[in-house]
Amino acid sequence: MSMTTTTVWNPATEEVIAEVPAFTQDQVREAIALSHSAQQKWRRLPLAERQLFLYKIAELVDANVEELAQLESQDVGKPIRSARAEVASVASCFRYYAGAIDKVHGDTITLDEGISFTFHEPLGVVAVITPWNFPLPIASWNIAPALAAGNSVIVKPASMTPLSTVRLGQLVDEISPIEGLFQVVTGSGSSVGATLLDDPRVHKISFTGSTEVGQSILRASADTFKHVTLELGGKSANLIFEDADVSAAAQAAPWAVFDNSGQDCCARSRVLVQRKVLDDFIDGFVEATKKLRIGDPSLIESDLGPLVSAEHRASVQSFLEPQLDYVYKGDAFQEKGFWLAPHIVLDKEGTSKAATDEIFGPVAVIIPFDTEAEAIEIANNSIYGLSGSIWTKDVARSLRVARALESGTLSVNSNSSIRVQTPFGGMKQSGMGRELGLEGLLGFTELKTVFVKTVD
Ligand code: NAP
Repeated sequence: MSMTTTTVWNPATEEVIAEVPAFTQDQVREAIALSHSAQQKWRRLPLAERQLFLYKIAELVDANVEELAQLESQDVGKPIRSARAEVASVASCFRYYAGAIDKVHGDTITLDEGISFTFHEPLGVVAVITPWNFPLPIASWNIAPALAAGNSVIVKPASMTPLSTVRLGQLVDEISPIEGLFQVVTGSGSSVGATLLDDPRVHKISFTGSTEVGQSILRASADTFKHVTLELGGKSANLIFEDADVSAAAQAAPWAVFDNSGQDCCARSRVLVQRKVLDDFIDGFVEATKKLRIGDPSLIESDLGPLVSAEHRASVQSFLEPQLDYVYKGDAFQEKGFWLAPHIVLDKEGTSKAATDEIFGPVAVIIPFDTEAEAIEIANNSIYGLSGSIWTKDVARSLRVARALESGTLSVNSNSSIRVQTPFGGMKQSGMGRELGLEGLLGFTELKTVFVKTVD
């Protein structure tokens, strides 16, 4: 029987690197049936056996870092240095949740007439739908806690970048104690994704992707009452106050927005700078941006690769309107590949489309402000609320501003958003629910309450 396939390209060379099967709806349903029976067995295994499996996956990832990193680099156009670090973080994620398995427990509530206990029960079959920008890390933030909590998992990776996830599935198959416990189904969101959403045997959808598709996922989940976690778009603010170490903030700012060529939901793409230090900051930001090395993702010295596709580059370029005030326009032209260098725009009003919309590319928009209150107002004036940074030496200010910002994940004097130990997620249209940390594990459980009567 011939199978339809999806073609996968290397965005740095435009070469075809793989053909991946497009699962039919019947094949997806078979995967769900297998997942359901695997979960029934898995949830009954002793915790120590669950733990051992997750530790073994971590070891397997470590042992195959290079292969997985090469796949990720060729598939996404990601610089190999970043790809290796990301794959290493996948192993850490499995290790963290292996260690967490026996540390999640319920409460005891004493009552006049007895005692109630709560238990965190697994949900059942969990479907994970991932985007193309950080395929393996985002898959692992869901696979690891979902398995740890006693669920089975089916992952549908993005059609453009499925290779590392498919390979992880093959590797895990070789050591899985139960057939079908973790499966990867490839194919389009509209067919494979929709089949996962329609099936009542799938109890949770964890979706990472655009806000628009996230809304349709939420609607579609209503029919079968699925639990839903959504990690969606962002337009995060990087706030630089005049009392900050402005030089440190300027040196760090390029990585905060141009890392992964700006294809990062946490990109601090709105750079809010207090007017007194605006010129100094811009000088430092431009100087540091010029140092970024754009080029062949397979080379260890490359900092930035191409964008993921020609269509996506065209979408990013549509924001680069000629009338904008550019303080820096990079050039990354090559004959082949979907290259686009960093661009920095100054928008004194903060009203251009580049300043308000998620671009998901290497474009930063600087917006000046005068007072702390104004900075908070500009930062919060967005449909999104995913991430952000506050640069100041004033501890009280950092806490005050952090409390006031409508954003799920913030950092002070740093641009880092993600740590496996700490919850991550968005407010407003950036999402619902949290991944990572112990909250991430609890998100794959359902609470059960049992009352024991102790008085006659
Ligand atoms: P996307 O177009 O929303 O796609 C994400 C995933 O959903 C893909 O696997 C896609 O499959 C699938 N999909 C599409 N339509 C579907 C449908 N109707 N039903 C079920 N599944 C469907 O997003 P993307 O372009 O890959 O990723 C970029 C977006 O993700 C950005 O907005 C970014 O901010 C966001 N993101 C958020 C986070 C976070 O943690 N908050 C992290 C990374 C990215 P196909 O590939 O087959 O279309």
